[in-house]
Amino acid sequence: MGLGGPARALREVAAAVGDLAVPLVCGGCGRPGTSWCRACADRLRDAPRVLAPRVEVDAPAWALGRYDGPLRAAVLALKEHGRRDLARTFGEGLAGALMTLAQWGDLPAGRRLAVIPAPTRRSAARRRGGDPVTAVARVAVGLLGPRAAVLPLLATAGLTRDSAGLGAGARASNLAGAIELTRPPPDAVTAAGTVVVLVDDVLTTGATAAASTRRLARAGVGVDAVVVLAGA
Ligand SMILES: [Zn+2]
Repeated sequence: MGLGGPARALREVAAAVGDLAVPLVCGGCGRPGTSWCRACADRLRDAPRVLAPRVEVDAPAWALGRYDGPLRAAVLALKEHGRRDLARTFGEGLAGALMTLAQWGDLPAGRRLAVIPAPTRRSAARRRGGDPVTAVARVAVGLLGPRAAVLPLLATAGLTRDSAGLGAGARASNLAGAIELTRPPPDAVTAAGTVVVLVDDVLTTGATAAASTRRLARAGVGVDAVVVLAGA
């Protein structure tokens, strides 16, 4: 074996692992050579869209964009296909949206910002190596500075009946009983001057957002806005 053999083999292994870690196709449109292309990035930089959920949510709801095309593909890639690198992409989008909403006056001025991820089933989140929405929220909060924090306060009990086939109203009440607090909210979240934002991946009927804001309200936490990565 020549001297360069082992070193070259190591380089090849490293390159293969690198390819696995950051797939070089755009998570939105599949374009090769980049994990998130400029066209998809432009789309994510669009102003937040206001949503009109079918189920009444006790806070205004916003989306980074419409749940179709590249944005839908990217949300599914993040959630279902292990594209954890897209948490950074969406985290940057979320931070930008929160700053825009604050500039518009659609988020109250506050001294602190608490970002609460919508509930996931704890077992599912563990299995998939952590909840992607929480990962997105952490990136956003990291960009927004020390007065912002992620508070994973919500989980579903895991005994929720399968809500497929239920109407929006039945789905909402099915969920409402199933959402639980992982711990009592810290005083800083219930204090005046804290802006509270609930974050989720997708909003379709609004059932999850409605049940989450109601559960938080019962614990003394008023949600100022719901922001999702993509909305119907
Ligand atoms: Zn793209």
